[in-house]
Amino acid sequence: MITARDLISGFQSLPIRGQAVIAHGSLKKFGRVEGGARTVIDALSESVDSLVMPAFTYQTMVVPEVGPPNNAMDYGAGQANRDALPFTRNLPVDSEIGILAETLRRRAPEERTTHPTHSFSGVNARYALDKQTLFDPLAPIGALAERNGWVLLMGVDHSAGADGVNHCVNTSIHYAEKLAGRKQFIRWALSKPDHRPARIVECTGFPGDSAGFDALAKTLEAETDSIVIGDALIEAVRLNRLFEVVQMVIKENPLALLCDKDNCARCNAVRASV
Ligand SMILES: [Zn+2]
Repeated sequence: MITARDLISGFQSLPIRGQAVIAHGSLKKFGRVEGGARTVIDALSESVDSLVMPAFTYQTMVVPEVGPPNNAMDYGAGQANRDALPFTRNLPVDSEIGILAETLRRRAPEERTTHPTHSFSGVNARYALDKQTLFDPLAPIGALAERNGWVLLMGVDHSAGADGVNHCVNTSIHYAEKLAGRKQFIRWALSKPDHRPARIVECTGFPGDSAGFDALAKTLEAETDSIVIGDALIEAVRLNRLFEVVQMVIKENPLALLCDKDNCARCNAVRASV
């Protein structure tokens, strides 16, 4: 059984100690943790200066009847919109992103941002969260990098996994793709501000597919500090170094980090744009 003490001594042995951190993780990968997700989030919050995690909500997304070309989207699929839920601050984090992110959202509900698809939660991270806009959803990651911050992966890899659904992907790679000039997308989502009716919001700067990101793991090996806690591999990479590596890889090969599925609309749209 993993205890709070195991987690704290593990996290504090990494260079994230006292630093600005964006974290992604899977509780299951640790094995049995005394007190569950709350113990992991508390231990992490105690170990770093400021903590940000994704609180993404893809269930808010809607498909318009028509829209701009080259946007990797089949317009007019109206049926899917019936299941869409408007974003509110109380909307749980998408279940695929995991219970750790949802636990942080519940721990600090007032620190959650209000982007309808790409909100973030945080502890002591107002300076980063406040940078987010509808047009620049990943700006909080840039703010963490300005403080020479780190990305922490707890039992998860860089990619969304083989099925290409958005799970616990290393979102900071998406931020770096944008820095490298890679094509971004437009999506639409329902949002319900306090005391006002729900409305459809256009979200620009929507990132591409992440299924090919684990190709970076080898390149980043020398930049990665890692330990094991329980059964989970815990990896830390400095954000600025990650950005440099991603930009270098895309400069060398504009098709780098794309997935190899023939029918991947977003990766194909990126290919068409270069
Ligand atoms: Zn793809």
